Amino acid sequence: MRLLIIEDEKSLAEAVREILVAHNYAVDLRFDGKSGLDLALSDTHDAIIIDIMLPGLNGFSVLEEIRAHGISTPVLLLTARTQTSDKVRGLDSGADDYLTKPFTMAELMARLRALSRRRDTLETNTVVTAGNLELDMSTLQMRTSKQLYSLTLKEAQLLELFMRHPNSTLSVQNIVDRIWGYESDATERHVQVYVSFLRKKLALVDTDVSIETVRGVGYRLVVQVTHGDGEGDSPQSRVTHGDGESDSLGTG
Ligand code: CA
Repeated sequence: MRLLIIEDEKSLAEAVREILVAHNYAVDLRFDGKSGLDLALSDTHDAIIIDIMLPGLNGFSVLEEIRAHGISTPVLLLTARTQTSDKVRGLDSGADDYLTKPFTMAELMARLRALSRRRDTLETNTVVTAGNLELDMSTLQMRTSKQLYSLTLKEAQLLELFMRHPNSTLSVQNIVDRIWGYESDATERHVQVYVSFLRKKLALVDTDVSIETVRGVGYRLVVQVTHGDGEGDSPQSRVTHGDGESDSLGTG
């Protein structure tokens, strides 16, 4: 889960990032409309949070440009203003939701989860399933009905990406952009190393899921066809997170 936040109030943006990172999101920050738009056009985020009042290019214009480029990533607009006209304009510009400052972190997280229900590419604090394997992003644990194994954050983010796109070939560059970030200096070698970590750990939990190399392109998660041993007792550990943070963030 990779988010982009475009917000010129640095302390607010950084506070929000810190909490989201603690909830296992990857978060990119930009402090003005122009550079925020440039990064948004990389189309590597699962959701974008945009403040309306930004220096240079305002949030409405950023959003309109994003949509004009055919990018349909869910967008949550932030504003200090509460006028109906702003909300209408925001929704007309292609926003998926609207949040008025000041807001609480619990509110923001709830909005992100609501966006996720609308667009299932965006999910928070949930369990992802592929084959007989479950991955819980809130605990970074993967499990089958027989075994459970803990992953590092990067391993879990990588496995989540694969599990959300089963049978799809993901290019190395796409994986780097989504897991390490558009501007990171991570390379194909990083992806290779983490895929090999993941393969070793997958072998430990006796799963029918594996990660195949697609030569010259990238990797693909496949679910082996099993000889139906009918395990109907896969664990139902849907996690409900008490978003404890209740301090108001953002004043205008
Ligand atoms: Ca602002």
